[in-house]
Amino acid sequence: MKNMTLENIAEACGGSYFGKEQEKQTEIRGAVTDSRQVEEGFLFIPVKGARVDGHDFIPQVCEKGAAAVLTEKKLENCEKPYILVQSCLRALKDIAGFYRSQLNIPIVGITGSVGKTSTKEMIASVLSEKYHVLKTAGNFNNEIGLPLTLLRIQEEHEAAVVEMGISDFGEMHRLAKMAQPDICVITNIGICHLENLKTRDGILKAKSEIFDYLKPEGHIILNGEDDKLSTLTEVKGIRPVFYGFGEMQPDICRSGEEGKEGRKPGMQKVQQDIYADHIQNCGLKGMEADIHTPAGTISVHIPIPGRHNIYNAMAAAGAALALNMELEDIKSGIEKAEAIGGRTNLIETGGLMLIDDCYNANPVSMRASLDVLSNGLARTVAVLGDMGELGEHEKRLHYEIGVYAAEKQIDTLFCAGVLSKEMAEGACDTNDWCEVFHFDTKDEMLPQLLEYLQEGDTVLVKASHFMDYPKIVEAVREKF
Ligand code: ATP
Ligand code: MG
Repeated sequence: MKNMTLENIAEACGGSYFGKEQEKQTEIRGAVTDSRQVEEGFLFIPVKGARVDGHDFIPQVCEKGAAAVLTEKKLENCEKPYILVQSCLRALKDIAGFYRSQLNIPIVGITGSVGKTSTKEMIASVLSEKYHVLKTAGNFNNEIGLPLTLLRIQEEHEAAVVEMGISDFGEMHRLAKMAQPDICVITNIGICHLENLKTRDGILKAKSEIFDYLKPEGHIILNGEDDKLSTLTEVKGIRPVFYGFGEMQPDICRSGEEGKEGRKPGMQKVQQDIYADHIQNCGLKGMEADIHTPAGTISVHIPIPGRHNIYNAMAAAGAALALNMELEDIKSGIEKAEAIGGRTNLIETGGLMLIDDCYNANPVSMRASLDVLSNGLARTVAVLGDMGELGEHEKRLHYEIGVYAAEKQIDTLFCAGVLSKEMAEGACDTNDWCEVFHFDTKDEMLPQLLEYLQEGDTVLVKASHFMDYPKIVEAVREKF
């Protein structure tokens, strides 16, 4: 790893080096917090978890050939060099930030309320057509996941695509300091984490901290249909590239003020820098669209269902153009994108079509997934559960999802959880079409659901992480 000598690492994290003088210049080969991932020549950074303290594994990793370890307490009889720090977590961030600043590769940082991981996958798929890309594994997007991701960048990598997730003010500033992104992408400003951030303006402000370390020649790519993001017409002297469908929108988007300049408030066609038309919904097979960019137009088939993937493809086109890619390569990268486990992941079991979206949920992504489900052939069944962290309006937000499911003519709604009762009510109040079942818990629901499902059904499974819906996916797959 470039310039990652023990001496430089100690300096970067303000730690004290203990070990032989000549070993100070040892360059580490990797840095990890999980003792099982330690290889010969690695730096081990122990962190304290809820149940285990990484410090307990120091003797083990030394035996496995670690080059050195970080520690919060002085070590007796340690034959390997070690760096004593006040906080290993803090040090992890400092070391990752130092390493990033030694690297001369573009980093794309992605944030937003919904669609970060999906957009990250799409961007990585496109950039991989030209560059050797490192991307965030899974959802490693927080103050531990991001530094670990940055530390996985190796000499052969030519670009990195990293997901950045937050739930409070100041967090994004710290993430941005580490990643120093060359390209910032924001997917939308939704209504997640309202508990800390209070309002959508609060969310906008917190997410905008991503620009704090953006270089003057950097690029900003924003969803121009988001009423909050579309107000960011200039950031640090940079004009963002906006993407969207370029559809009719209320005339308040860009001005932020109704009826400004004597215009009557009404509808206005907003032309985005990158926009899509000729949209064709191929149901569960994906979406087709023409994507227009300042460099020309491409007709693409996106192999993942859901209209939202067109947004993600447009964001990817924006990032790729910023990195001087050709339209042809952008098209082939979009067409190779793959769905990720737990997120609109289509599973064709022998008997039915399962839309596994059980990884997480919020009102925006619930609607997006119900849109996908509504394309199902034959009977459509939504198996939904509570959405967390929605603050004081949580009941209303659940009720509205029920209304939406019924409006989308979903045949059956199965839901479990305290808040999902509202969802059930919303669906019942909307029409008689939708058959609705509510249960207090997932465990009460499961046997009834398995009894109800039949061959040919299209089934969406979606709830917040804490509801543990992967169990439902497992059980359904086992039976069908
Ligand atoms: P988390 O905060 O859990 O990391 P995330 O922002 O990474 O979430 P994803 O996991 O990419 O979000 O997407 C969650 C779900 O949201 C997807 O399964 C899909 O249904 C929907 N989705 C994906 N992209 C978008 C988008 N651009 N707009 C709206 N919904 C989207
Ligand atoms: Mg994610």
